[in-house]
Amino acid sequence: MRRLRNVKIVATLGPASSDYETIRALFEAGADVFRLNMSHGTHAEQAARHAIIRKIEADTGRPIAILADLQGPKLRVGTFAAGAHDLEEGDAFRFDLDPAEGDGNRVNLPHPEIFAALEPGAALLVNDGKIRLRVERCGEDFADCTVTTGGTISNRKGVNVPDVVLPLAALSEKDRSDLEFACELGVDWLALSFVQRPEDVIEARGLARGRAAILSKIEKPAAVKAFAAILDASDGIMVARGDLGVELPVHSVPPIQKRLVRAARAQAKPVIVATQMLESMIESPMPTRAEVSDVATAIYEGADAVMLSAESAAGNYPVAAVETMDNVAQSVESDPTYREVIESSRKVDRRSVADGIVAAAREIAEATDIHAICCFTHSGTTAALVARERPSVPIIALSPMERTVRRLCLSWGVHCVLTTEIIDRFKMAVVNAARAARVYGFATDKDQIVVTAGVPFNVTGSTNILRVAPCDERLIFRTDPE
Ligand code: PGA
Ligand code: MN
Repeated sequence: MRRLRNVKIVATLGPASSDYETIRALFEAGADVFRLNMSHGTHAEQAARHAIIRKIEADTGRPIAILADLQGPKLRVGTFAAGAHDLEEGDAFRFDLDPAEGDGNRVNLPHPEIFAALEPGAALLVNDGKIRLRVERCGEDFADCTVTTGGTISNRKGVNVPDVVLPLAALSEKDRSDLEFACELGVDWLALSFVQRPEDVIEARGLARGRAAILSKIEKPAAVKAFAAILDASDGIMVARGDLGVELPVHSVPPIQKRLVRAARAQAKPVIVATQMLESMIESPMPTRAEVSDVATAIYEGADAVMLSAESAAGNYPVAAVETMDNVAQSVESDPTYREVIESSRKVDRRSVADGIVAAAREIAEATDIHAICCFTHSGTTAALVARERPSVPIIALSPMERTVRRLCLSWGVHCVLTTEIIDRFKMAVVNAARAARVYGFATDKDQIVVTAGVPFNVTGSTNILRVAPCDERLIFRTDPE
């Protein structure tokens, strides 16, 4: 089983997609990575989904990545005696630390850190930015505001404070417990919500202790500002357009998306474009033209992956949504303009031996009739470097590390293969690579492949070999040195 596209598809699981049959159908339709959203559902429900995915992996013999998305420091107002109130433009409204139920003039905001960080003039957004308020006066336990965009405020609605870096712990108590739970389950990626500084990422990495790779969701203005340092500290990035479009003017999201996708690719780190990609498919079997165009744009930009949220987690057409993404991807990637765009954006700073080898592998493969670039990878770094080159020939990543092949499911164009044999001779590595290329339909025994590897094997960062090899095993045994 192989995909006929390079961009990867991330599908969020939820009530609409929790049984074996549905998750299997999503996988067969094209989902490469499944996202468990820790903001919803119980640990027992997440554990059941995790077990089903691992069963599908075993049943199909194909690695699948699982991404656990931590809720992060989501701020919420308290409750109202009447449940809700309509706020109108120009109204005065107070947020404070008083736990008493709110009314039309005030409500509890149980986060002292916010009051400490607020300044007059800052914007306070409620309910996904539908209601906007400007801070007029504030102290250590209150903020008096003027409503600038009215709407209905109700119990436990979310609050965004885009203009200030909040001295909030990046990981709440719930996040810490969810992180430990997800690592114990054996997820491959952890996504961190509302990252504000590189220290937030470093803290999560310390708690994960190598059990999962760390992906930072960029959804705060502070994260956009500190993006270079956050990218450095992270293994991957998500352009989390939902909250980003609330915290910043919605029209600033597309340029940020383009910049983040390029920067992540330059660092050979996977980047997901997320949220509202096929939003109308929650209700309808057909996407809008604008949604199809949005998915296509992310693919033209060279994103590693596109993501479904409620479309696959809670919508009426989860499988159709994956199929739509798969169709759009095949259509875009067979367009000659797509290759032109991808080629012209290959601006890479090559410094290491591995950088040179993967660049040469691409050039040789593209200039000749070579059918795949096969790369042996221990940590996954070499495969990510090959993916950064965005070659026009397929990439096969081979690793004896289950963790590595699973994580790489998120990377552009990488077909992951778990090699069970302990490879101690280079000849056997070539034989394994050729076999994978044939078995998965990338090449026949008449074809040639490029093999990259590092000797000694199983040492991270040792990539030092590039070999053009036949796919015919008899020829490999006849011609290859030990
Ligand atoms: P969420 O993150 O779905 O967890 O809010 C994605 C986003 O904000 O776009
Ligand atoms: Mn978000």
